[in-house]
Amino acid sequence: MSRIIAIANQKGGVGKTTTSVNLAAALARMKKKVLLIDMDPQGNATVAIGVDKDEIEVSAYDLLLGELKTKDVILPTEIEGLDLIGSNSELTAAEVELIEESKGPKRLRKALKKAVDHYDAIIIDCPPTLNMLTLNALTAADGIVVPVQCEFFALEGLSALMDTIEAVQQDLNSDLHIDGLLRTMHDRRNNLANDVSNELVAHFGMKVLQTIIPRNVRLAEAPSHGESILDYDIGSNGAIAYLALANELIRKTKI
Ligand code: ADP
Ligand code: MG
Repeated sequence: MSRIIAIANQKGGVGKTTTSVNLAAALARMKKKVLLIDMDPQGNATVAIGVDKDEIEVSAYDLLLGELKTKDVILPTEIEGLDLIGSNSELTAAEVELIEESKGPKRLRKALKKAVDHYDAIIIDCPPTLNMLTLNALTAADGIVVPVQCEFFALEGLSALMDTIEAVQQDLNSDLHIDGLLRTMHDRRNNLANDVSNELVAHFGMKVLQTIIPRNVRLAEAPSHGESILDYDIGSNGAIAYLALANELIRKTKI
């Protein structure tokens, strides 16, 4: 059985995609079998892992709506042990089509049933909205990791996300667990970042993961090379942090 982890926060630019790609790569490096699912029509995770989003013939769209079997939408990547279900702008159509369906939020969960035995972990990169695609991810997931950028408006919107998680737990997926809030783009020299970090711990306690992802320019550069941080610069602080995150989640969730 695999652990399905949704990386979600309806705020854009908080590090969801960076976390999805590099956590997936870090777990694969630790000899785990990993499937990365790009659930954002922007296809950033697909590109970041080195796949041309406009060239792919199968995508998360087919997983959610098409006639294809789950195994037929899975693509290999350059990274050993890491497979991908890619995405591009076609996925926007799935969003619209699923809203009209009563079983819309459960499509991904159903589609993944046959894949779970092949992987130790399935990481889902969510779009920056609480839409039907995110709802599908939360309904399919065992756990959610919430990246939070340590800046002034970080806490804003978190209560809406917590409300959504509670609603999903009640109506769609009682097993959904908060695996943790992840502090991202943290700059130790910045007082505000430290204040926000402390506030987050004061408010959410044990739900805040110990690993802190530092602001690191190598993490921002890696996607344009189509490489995870581990292939782009294994010695960088970003690589060290994402390996630590993988270790923490393995310990915490028994991946
Ligand atoms: P989201 O998926 O939540 O929209 P991204 O992962 O795409 O966020 O990150 C937003 C931007 O910030 C991207 O340009 C990314 O490269 C950059 N970024 C993310 N994490 C870091 C980090 N720890 N240090 C520096 N830049 C980062
Ligand atoms: Mg993203």
